[in-house]
Amino acid sequence: MIDIDGSIGEGGGQVLRTALGLSLVTGKPFRIFNIRAGRRKPGLLRQHLTAVEAAVRVGAAHVAGAEPNSTNLTFEPSGIRHGAYEFSIGTAGSTTLVLQTILPALLVAEGPSTITLNGGTHNPMAPPFEFLADSFAPLVSRMGPSVDVRLNRYGFAPAGGGQIVAHIQPRALTPLHIGRAAELRTPMAEAIVAHIPISIAEREVRIARRRLSWPPDSFRVDSTKDSDGPGNVFTLKFTTADVTTVVTGFGEFGVRAEALAHQACESVRRMRTSGASVCRHLADQILLPMAMVGEGSYYSEPLSTHATTNMETIRQFLKVEFRVDEVADRLVRVSVRELRGQDQARPFVT
Ligand code: ATP
Repeated sequence: MIDIDGSIGEGGGQVLRTALGLSLVTGKPFRIFNIRAGRRKPGLLRQHLTAVEAAVRVGAAHVAGAEPNSTNLTFEPSGIRHGAYEFSIGTAGSTTLVLQTILPALLVAEGPSTITLNGGTHNPMAPPFEFLADSFAPLVSRMGPSVDVRLNRYGFAPAGGGQIVAHIQPRALTPLHIGRAAELRTPMAEAIVAHIPISIAEREVRIARRRLSWPPDSFRVDSTKDSDGPGNVFTLKFTTADVTTVVTGFGEFGVRAEALAHQACESVRRMRTSGASVCRHLADQILLPMAMVGEGSYYSEPLSTHATTNMETIRQFLKVEFRVDEVADRLVRVSVRELRGQDQARPFVT
């Protein structure tokens, strides 16, 4: 039984999700205490409870402590069950984070899976649908398995009510080495609004036009009625070194459209001047699949505590070593290597 202190590093929900994911992959049971101790409202919220429920079903697991606000949990999986599942968060909690909890196991399962998730699809502080579909999933697919994600309905916070569907076809995972950023290809700036004036989207795109020297046909505005509540997402997307970067900003009460757009453009500018090909969010999320293979590397801006916390959690399950080498001002090369002669991340399938 692995003992995990949920307050390590950042002390957020990722410690729990990574532990659930790797417990399913390796078959190793774990106990976690101090869940989300670093957050304002510690313990399990709806999104985390749904992630636990999903892991319990996919892993036919025995669980104790899966209750609202609980700060302790024991999880003992008994083997990966692929197939069709549907999970509902019941709030605007992030569907993409629930999917990422069970995805590692489904990548190495014995057959394909279709996962339907109901809840939030565009939450601040979580991967928005576009990031999952255009950045994370294609990168994982380059490692072997195929991951395809569709948006059926927008779920903006706080209303929720969105739906995503993921199709996962397992295949052997292979190492992935991502080079430094090169020429920027297929840039796109898109602002979408739901149940609020389109002028908000136009104001965001106007800033992007002014700040980014992208071709005139790279800028779009759109409005959708396919959403329970109001919302606004501003997305900047481009490909470099075969990795698609998706930078997003969310409209919020009290935040000016222009400020949100400036902030997103600034993130793109910083990333482009650094030479990074992997954005700071992808940098923490791609660590887990790379560690499952036992080999991989990428260039990113200096790592967030989120990424270093994830490394710490991963090392509790897999015998891997992470290296972070500073290669230039604001550019690091991150590499993952299996520690030879030790337990490997073998798929645990019954
Ligand atoms: P809490 O810590 O309160 O439990 P949480 O469960 O939502 O919150 P975190 O531990 O904060 O989880 O993890 C959030 C994850 O969402 C991280 O992997 C982070 O990289 C990712 N993320 C946050 N914002 C974005 C974004 N704009 N684009 C892509 N990924 C994002």
